[in-house]
Amino acid sequence: MSVRTRFAPSPTGSLHIGGARTAIFNWLFARHHGGKFILRIEDTDRTRSTEESIAEIIDAMKWLGLEWDEGPFRQSERLHVYKSHIERLLEAGKAYRCYCTQEELEAKREEAQRQGRVYRYDGRCRYLKSQPANAPFTVRLLTPEVGTIEVEDLIRGTIVFDAKDIDDFIIQKTDGFPTYNFAVVVDDATMNITHVIRGDDHLANTPKQILIYKALGYELPKFAHVSMILGPDRTKLSKRHGATSVIAYREMGYLPEALVNYLTRLGWSYGDQEIFSREELIEKFTLDNVGKSPAVFNPEKLLWLNGWYIRNKPVEEIARLVLPFLEKRGIKAALNEKLIKVVNSLRERAKTLKELADASLYFFTDEIEYDESARKKFLTPEIVPIFRDLIDRLSSLSDFNASELQRVFGEIIEQKGLKLVQIAQPVRVALTGKTVSPGIFEVMEILGKEKVLERLERAIKTISLEGKNPSN
Ligand code: GLU
Repeated sequence: MSVRTRFAPSPTGSLHIGGARTAIFNWLFARHHGGKFILRIEDTDRTRSTEESIAEIIDAMKWLGLEWDEGPFRQSERLHVYKSHIERLLEAGKAYRCYCTQEELEAKREEAQRQGRVYRYDGRCRYLKSQPANAPFTVRLLTPEVGTIEVEDLIRGTIVFDAKDIDDFIIQKTDGFPTYNFAVVVDDATMNITHVIRGDDHLANTPKQILIYKALGYELPKFAHVSMILGPDRTKLSKRHGATSVIAYREMGYLPEALVNYLTRLGWSYGDQEIFSREELIEKFTLDNVGKSPAVFNPEKLLWLNGWYIRNKPVEEIARLVLPFLEKRGIKAALNEKLIKVVNSLRERAKTLKELADASLYFFTDEIEYDESARKKFLTPEIVPIFRDLIDRLSSLSDFNASELQRVFGEIIEQKGLKLVQIAQPVRVALTGKTVSPGIFEVMEILGKEKVLERLERAIKTISLEGKNPSN
């Protein structure tokens, strides 16, 4: 039997990280077994499904690298398939038309509530002698009144449901559209899905779906219900806990590798190992190590992993990925040697591409803004003669590289009897506006002679203007 899994999002919003994890598990499971992964858009809820959401889900799937082998199918294009299955059940007497109106059903529901009973449809239309002509109807599945329905779950074991708790539920709405449970079963069966891996919020639907499989005479797939993702406060992960959509993480400068790695490890474990390449995940992922208890989302750990990938991926790739973030800040950089040097010098400290872009601005723009307290502390009149001396020496350098620069600084220190930081910090502020940066010689080398001289001159000018206006 070759494995076939599917991811079946309802396009009623963005792909959030819980959904992404379900997609990842299905994708990994299929890849691990050399099977097929299918993408199916469940858009039968016409009022809530949007094209925009479909596009965003597909975009997010591609970004995460969860390539599918078949699809994307759309349920809205398969209505004829559901219709023919409904017909089959009606003809076989396994389903029936129900003419009860919304109002009648509502009244019965309220009555049950008043009596403190759980409402179940009473089966009034089960054996109607004559059917009203032209009246709107739903189609209901004829369900057993007694017995049990067992869900064999690969993660949770056997879960037993009581048949009497399940009424003759609707499988086709009055508008002729199938209900979620019906469309899912018809699709999973006709698409030959072997493993249904999904969130455990669907567990309560599974006995109903099993009844539909049986009525249609289809073989059951294997089920695996994955537990929810909780926020750090142990309530269901939601917007309150911060960003939840995959695209939001892309925009914040996360790498897809980090997100896939993190989300897989959230709920699945492999000893103490935290970092997995894609190939390793495919090789090692099985449902055996997927936990039953809910996983708690830990944004710091995701950030840490992201930093790891930023430091460890090929530098050219990080440079390429940082370009759009620079562009957003109005900087048109190119994928060249300078950018690669910049990324190399900064990536040890950056945890996101956005942070990396923010930290690199002074390499690309001349509009350096001095950090106010750094300027006050380091750009003082006493430093001016030292800057002048430095400018003189740097101007005559032909090789503007880190080791030459180090030599020049060494000479000044020795002649003036200073410590390196006494020059390095003011120079750093003059060149970057800040007191923290990569090594000063590295920064100077990347900036190049011309920019360094310009910025030292500019700092001198700022200091002397300051002198004329001491109130500042
Ligand atoms: N369309 C359903 C959802 O987005 C998933 C259905 C399923 O996986 O069975 O929640």
